[in-house]
Amino acid sequence: MDKVDNSKEVIKQQLEIINGRINDAISKSGRKAGSVKLEAVSKFHPLQSVLDAIECGQFLFGENRVQEAREKFSQVNELGKKCELHIIGSLQRNKVKHAVEIAECIESVDRIELIEEIEKQCAKINKKITVLFELHTGEESKSGFQSADELQKALDFCAAGNTPHLIPTGFMTMAPFTKDESLIRNSFATLRKISEQMKVHYPQFSFSELSMGMSCDYEIAIEEGSTIVRIGTAIFGERDYS
Ligand SMILES: *Cc1c(COP(=O)(O)O)cnc(C)c1O
Repeated sequence: MDKVDNSKEVIKQQLEIINGRINDAISKSGRKAGSVKLEAVSKFHPLQSVLDAIECGQFLFGENRVQEAREKFSQVNELGKKCELHIIGSLQRNKVKHAVEIAECIESVDRIELIEEIEKQCAKINKKITVLFELHTGEESKSGFQSADELQKALDFCAAGNTPHLIPTGFMTMAPFTKDESLIRNSFATLRKISEQMKVHYPQFSFSELSMGMSCDYEIAIEEGSTIVRIGTAIFGERDYS
């Protein structure tokens, strides 16, 4: 696939369209205005695209590879631009140090070993970091905790006081890659249901975020309770993985 980095004009247009559709989906489902944040996923797109989006009023960004995120967002910071970065891709232990330096939130927490490393690295720099726990809810996606049981072991670990530098705020998932809307909806509904259960089990955490929905399925996700939609292609254009 050829790489198409959208121009600033196109990014502006797309952000307006998407924000409009987000608001429509919010009111259609009877939810509160402003209850869904748009996270612009800038992976594989250049620094300039990020800067363009910031100038169009975009604040929240997602990246899935730490090295790439670091290259871009350290420059964003040096230029004095204000934004918030979330790491959304599966995270290797040796990347955690740099991840916690640049990000406000790790959305892809999927194992206790990773939780321990995030705690360790945050303690070193005396930083508290927001985390979301990623849950596997679709047939095809492999990332995330594989069951509610596994997730609970991790939450028990945090609840036991092992992670003073982590602020658990919710859950993340990826819907299966399919055209079957019922499977997609099911995946989002599963995350919401588990989130409701975890709120009851762990009243000490304020689980308020559900990060779910991408370019092709964010309106369904909003209908199912999403509070963060992670959108890349629809804002920045196709990615060139080659
Ligand atoms: C790339 C990515 C997205 C954005 O996907 P688009 O289809 O381009 O909107 C969202 N979430 C995660 C975890 C991703 O890796």
